[in-house]
Amino acid sequence: MSAQPKAEATEAVDDAWDELNAALREYAPPCDGDALFTADRVSAEDRARCTSICGRCLVSDLCDAAATAAKVTSGFWAGHHYSEKGRK
Ligand code: SF4
Repeated sequence: MSAQPKAEATEAVDDAWDELNAALREYAPPCDGDALFTADRVSAEDRARCTSICGRCLVSDLCDAAATAAKVTSGFWAGHHYSEKGRK
């Protein structure tokens, strides 16, 4: 097994985070400061509210790419809630 794929994967994660962080230096997303986005447990109603908020976010594509690349396991990202069980 080569270490190269892991290095490329790490680089992809870094690139996705760098792009998101660069965008967030110019823009405060609508989830900023909303504790619901980092809650461990959310109701269906909470999920619907977060999805609606993400729907008007200007960096949702970058947010989704960063969450996907990093394989996040918690929080609400780009219209989806993540947990150890996966994405909903
Ligand atoms: S898309 Fe990401 S940055 Fe934008 S509001 Fe949703 S969670 Fe926040």
